[in-house]
Amino acid sequence: MRPLVLITNDDGILSPHLHAMADAIAAEAEVLVVAPERQRSAASHAITLHKPLRLHTVSPQRHSLSGTPVDCVYLGVMKLATRMPDLVVSGINDGYNLGSDVFYSGTVAGAVEGGLRGTVGVALSMAPRAQHPDAAVAACLAIVRATLAARLPAGTVLNVNVPGTGGARYRWTTLGRRRYEDDVAERVDPRGRPYYWIGGGASGHDQRPGSDCDAIAEGVISVSPLHLDLTAHAAVAAPPFAVTGLDLG
Ligand code: MN
Repeated sequence: MRPLVLITNDDGILSPHLHAMADAIAAEAEVLVVAPERQRSAASHAITLHKPLRLHTVSPQRHSLSGTPVDCVYLGVMKLATRMPDLVVSGINDGYNLGSDVFYSGTVAGAVEGGLRGTVGVALSMAPRAQHPDAAVAACLAIVRATLAARLPAGTVLNVNVPGTGGARYRWTTLGRRRYEDDVAERVDPRGRPYYWIGGGASGHDQRPGSDCDAIAEGVISVSPLHLDLTAHAAVAAPPFAVTGLDLG
């Protein structure tokens, strides 16, 4: 039986990179696409609990959902797929998800939800407004193929970033630290009321050998394996303080 790959993204069902990736994977696996009906970048791991979700089928096995990337994976795994997907692919995102971006990214959240739901997740991101999308799709397909062949344990999540230079070198990396212009713009709307616009552009990264940021800066494809266990195990083993007035239990 061909493997089943559930594909989502956070740029929405109209993203050409989503369909390019789905078409490439469909050559060697059964593909089910469930993607947000509109742009949901930076949705992080949000789920929709307090309003209905509407599903529209845009072509056979390709659906849009009025929810977040995580809603898409949830519904895809729990309702639409006829068996547990062998892999959840999220992307290819238009723009990198490096370092602490993983906490904000809807692309990464879609892959993480795959891991949490008992399968394997791969988040795919590439250079913004990439000059070589075909090369990025080919590189991502190679990684998807290798991931399927490796039969990784459930809960494995990989965060992949592909540089815009079109090279074929890749590297296993740690999450680095990206710098942003942490802007808050205050403006006045046409009714005279103030409004705010948060989030500035990327302004470089810290030099950390072995990091995803360094790999991308060198034109190397970055593959960062992620832990879903956020516990700071060292702090549990050696607690940083005792609480006066409470007994350790
Ligand atoms: Mn996005």
